[in-house]
Parts: sequence; C-alpha cells; structure tokens
Amino acid sequence: MTNGTLLDGVSMLGDGRYAPSPSGILHVGNLRTALLAWTYARSSQRGFLLRIEDLDGRSRPEFEAAQLRDLSELGIDWDGVPIRQSDRVSIYASITDALSAQNLTFECYCSRKDLAEAASAPHHELGFYPGTCRDLSVQQRAERRSLTGRAPAIRLRSEAVSVAFTDENYGRHSGHSDDIVLRRGDGTYSYNFVAVVDDILGQSTDPSPLIASVSAGNGNAGEGVGDRSGSGNEKRPDARALLTPQVTQIVRGNDLLSSTPRQIYLQKLLGFEPPQYAHVPLVVNHDAVRLSKRDGAVTLPQLHELGISTSQLVGMFAESLGFPAVGSAQEFLEVFQPEHMNKEPWVFTEPNV
Ligand SMILES: [Zn+2]
Repeated sequence: MTNGTLLDGVSMLGDGRYAPSPSGILHVGNLRTALLAWTYARSSQRGFLLRIEDLDGRSRPEFEAAQLRDLSELGIDWDGVPIRQSDRVSIYASITDALSAQNLTFECYCSRKDLAEAASAPHHELGFYPGTCRDLSVQQRAERRSLTGRAPAIRLRSEAVSVAFTDENYGRHSGHSDDIVLRRGDGTYSYNFVAVVDDILGQSTDPSPLIASVSAGNGNAGEGVGDRSGSGNEKRPDARALLTPQVTQIVRGNDLLSSTPRQIYLQKLLGFEPPQYAHVPLVVNHDAVRLSKRDGAVTLPQLHELGISTSQLVGMFAESLGFPAVGSAQEFLEVFQPEHMNKEPWVFTEPNV
C-alpha cells in the first residue's frame, strides 16, 4: 500500500460522503446536510461517495430510487456507483472474525431488558454497556447460551479510555469508548461498526488491507486518539503509523456528535487515521425539535406541489447558512466558506405560498 488511499485513480485527498437510509423520502433537513457534505468535499478537492445504508429492515428500493432522484435534482453528483451496505455483509463478517481472532470481541447474552435494568443502576453512564458479559468463562457462556436459547450479540472489547477530537465547526469534544455492538443476535450489523468499515474502504470491496491491519495489531486506540490538534500530551508509547482511510472527511448533523468518539476509537483500533469531522447544524421545526416527515410539506415533491422550485430551495438553504440566496448547488459551491457558516439550528416552517 502507498501512503495515499486504498484505491488508485481517485483523489489522493480521499473522499467525502453522504450516507442516507432508504426508509423514506429525504426531507429538508436531510437535503441540506447532503448539500453541505457535497460542498465540503468538492470545495476541498475531495471525491464524493454516496452510500446507501440499507441494512435496516425498513429500507425499500423505491425510497432509494426517490432519494437518488432528489439528490440529483438538487445538483449533487457522486463518484462511481452508490455503495450499498446490503452488498457488503460478507465484508463486515470477515472483519468481525479478524477482531475476534485478536480477542477484541466478546459474546453478549444481555436482553434489552437486562440492559435497561443495568442502565437504571446508580453510577451508570447513560447509554454505555455495563460489561456484564465481558469476562465470562467458557462454561458460563455455554450456560447463558442454553438459558437464552438465542444467538449472542458480538461486542467490541474496548479499553475504557477517553477519546478527544476537534470538530471543524464545534471545536473540541471528548467522550468514552464503549463495548459497542458489532453484530446483533439476529445477525444484523450495527450502524457504528459498518459506518466505520465503509469509511475506511470507500468504494473498495477488498477488506484484506483492513484485515491485515487488525491481524498485525496495527491499531493504537489509547488516550488521545482522534486528537488532531497535536497538543502533544497523547499517551501513545508504541504508536505505529496509522493508515489513510478512503473517506477522509465526514459531514453530518450535529445530533451525531456524541457517537463520534466511539467511531474514532474503532477507526484507530482498526489501524486507520480518523477522518476530519465537520458536524453541521440541524434543521428543526417551530418547537425546536429535529425536523421530521410529520412537519408538513418537507420533501422536494411536497414543496414542488406548493410551487417551490428546487432552485428556490437551494436559495433558502444558502440563506439559512448565512450565504447569498444562490440558485444552484454549483453556485453554492462558489459562495460557500465554512468559517463563515451560520451554526445555529435553522427553524423550517412550511412556506406560505
Ligand atoms: Zn451482555
């Protein structure tokens, strides 16, 4: 492998990406984030990937088709064909196996009820796995398996460390690593796990560099991982060189800030440099709640019915972000300056036409 990217013939700066779940029509909030992700990538000479996160049982091909149509209509283009997570299950399985071979996973027999009870115990950090099944003996595991009568989930065996990173828009953040679920008992892979794997691989469907890195124990996910500010206080006694992932920039809604430390931890454990993170402000309704399909006319086809053109919508996005009301994605690319972006949430109400 070179010191560039995993793929030849693509931007040496790597890619940005947008990763919708095809469980419905994209709404104004999704479309604005997609426009920003594309603009960040193109304005920094990166490639841009579209990834369909269709492992969810609610995914439908007709929603995927509608999402691609709406993104194209907005003026967003992408490199290569869209990446579909449902095509990559064998990749996720091979990486889970590689982690297990390094004793970096464990079987978890906890039910939702068990986890809810643990979460209500005193001193429990909200949302974090309490470690119930981390250190079971072979015999205890056999007992749990026959007791529950179902396949266990596979969790990452993480060190309890603090992970700090500097977001391009929201500054310094930190959080704890967690024994995140890699594969649920029903065989489906978790969002945090597959998102990190796919960001490392980009369009490549060859997991061997990643598996080689895991097998070599290349990762060093200790304290200070993800710290791009170079503060010099990282404790990385035997830090080996981290590899460059294909996706080097992640732009997404700032409601996902709290899951970022766990993703960075995993990325470094797999032996790869964390990408640049630029979280962007959300679109909310008049109750300051994240916009949803219940908030009236919020999709492109619905807005068209009210007489709002795609170009007008791009103008509204641009203005809401503190830029002139341009009429196309290409024009937005020309006026966009990340350092001058309005970072307040945008309150969207159905336009009165
Ligand atoms: Zn458990």
